[in-house]
Amino acid sequence: MRAIIKPGPQPGAEYQINAPEPIEVPAGHIKVQIAAASVCGSDRSMYQYNDAAAAFRPELPKIMGHEGSGTIVEIGGGITGFTPGDRVAFDSHVACYACFQCQNDNPHLCENMQLLGYHTDGLFAEYVVVPVQAAFKLPHDFNLEEAALLEPAGVAMHAIQASEQPLLSKRVLITGGGPVGLFIAELARIAGAAKVVVVEPNPYRREFAESLGAIGMEPNESIPEQLREMSQDRHGFDVGFEASGHPSSFPTILNSLRTGGTFVSVGFGRSLGEFDAAEYLNRRNITFKGCFGRRLWSTWDLLSVLIAEDKLKLSTFITHRLPLSEFERAIELLSEDSCKVILLPQES
Ligand SMILES: [Zn+2]
Ligand SMILES: [Zn+2]
Repeated sequence: MRAIIKPGPQPGAEYQINAPEPIEVPAGHIKVQIAAASVCGSDRSMYQYNDAAAAFRPELPKIMGHEGSGTIVEIGGGITGFTPGDRVAFDSHVACYACFQCQNDNPHLCENMQLLGYHTDGLFAEYVVVPVQAAFKLPHDFNLEEAALLEPAGVAMHAIQASEQPLLSKRVLITGGGPVGLFIAELARIAGAAKVVVVEPNPYRREFAESLGAIGMEPNESIPEQLREMSQDRHGFDVGFEASGHPSSFPTILNSLRTGGTFVSVGFGRSLGEFDAAEYLNRRNITFKGCFGRRLWSTWDLLSVLIAEDKLKLSTFITHRLPLSEFERAIELLSEDSCKVILLPQES
């Protein structure tokens, strides 16, 4: 079968047309024919094998890919609730459901977490055999290309859940107009935010944000001043989502929030830089939140309802569709003018 293999801890990946199709389907596993798999910034990290990829301690070689959807073709023993023919999408985090976090309603923080494409074979292939815990069952008519975007859109939904803020009438700032930042912008609009600003250096992505009804702004030092100007009634925005991973975004958000505002860390920015606790925690009383992965499965449920009721159209975010053989082009596109790039493993 066709597949993209990450052979070992060095840059690059291999497109194979004769990768062995998984035959054995152990108990607790399902075999799925992959319809669509979307490409993510962390696939680029894995392709380059940078520090961010190494930090997850992948067990290589593995088939890459962790955002995708397909149709079950076979189920292993001991599985209820899934049958061949069911459409599924995958959460990339495979929880153990036995550890303290799993047993206390936080399987997304599982202490024995396995990641698709890192510790088990991933989704850039015609077929995959995965633990059933990774699968979310979809309605029979659910569009499988859109379903491949549920995982990254789930990061945005989880960020909003984690904020613990109803966004109705709120002014919302998002740093980073990559797919996750844009999903947050769209969900904030649906949630009734009064104003959504997306700070992003790439003009294409700023324009994309504007097409969603947000205001696109180029990063610069005067942004906090401009945003306080836009929210004079309370001297700052209510909620800020950091979705770029870039350290310069922290001061941008912290200085744009009103006293008592909420900061949500979504991207994996490593350093807050010089952090003035007296200023931000005491005097300005900023609440700090963060999110990792998606809540299993409330995040998925919330997204599914919005899609079923035609409030959220994930196809809007798909800008490129490519066969697996053009995987390297797909990785390049992530740094160009694109939103979500999807791979179609059944196409040669
Ligand atoms: Zn991803
Ligand atoms: Zn666990």
